[in-house]
Amino acid sequence: MAILAYSEVLRYLGYGGQELTPELQRRTDELVLHCEEVAKPATVCETFPADELPIELPGNDVANHLRDAVEVVFFAATLGHGIDRELRRLSFTDPLGQVIFDAAATARVERLADEVEARVRERAAERGLFCSWRFSPGYGDLPLSVQAPLLAVLNAQRRLGITLTPSNLMVPTKSVTAIIGMHPTPQPGLASSCAVCSLAEFCALRERGASCR
Ligand code: SF4
Repeated sequence: MAILAYSEVLRYLGYGGQELTPELQRRTDELVLHCEEVAKPATVCETFPADELPIELPGNDVANHLRDAVEVVFFAATLGHGIDRELRRLSFTDPLGQVIFDAAATARVERLADEVEARVRERAAERGLFCSWRFSPGYGDLPLSVQAPLLAVLNAQRRLGITLTPSNLMVPTKSVTAIIGMHPTPQPGLASSCAVCSLAEFCALRERGASCR
């Protein structure tokens, strides 16, 4: 995967177009590279018939999101425990570095999730199906408590080393879970074209001149 775009990291740092000092630019470049070195990206993905989901997904929002889906994909993605160890080390030795490294790692795990989503959309398109955007525990009224059964059904502790804190936060902290529906008809809320799609960088469909839409 390509190194993170500078702009992605700045977004997680809360920059909104202000001028950056050369020193901050240099530190950001350095810590983005360091994040790439430390990260051990890993993912798991399972697909289930929509009418035979192995866990309950409480809430109206996810039910609306998956309405008419024929299959549902659950996935988990993580950068691994090394990122958390490095964040802890930086918190003692380099607080600014910790903030930048944290932003770089957040941007990096979101890109890992983009990569998984692009593969799911490709698989769906090959079967004449259309995906909804990825929906994660904590969005809308889907409670974070669904993380436990979701991770269990993915066997994510054994396969990825992901565990939960008592408040349902994932460890490693730079981990993502998500739910994607595969539907018989195109779904709203996705990028209007490949040109503005955040998954374009990873999308084999686009490379072939095809489309998920
Ligand atoms: S790049 Fe185009 S084909 Fe690929 S996921 Fe995005 S919109 Fe779909």
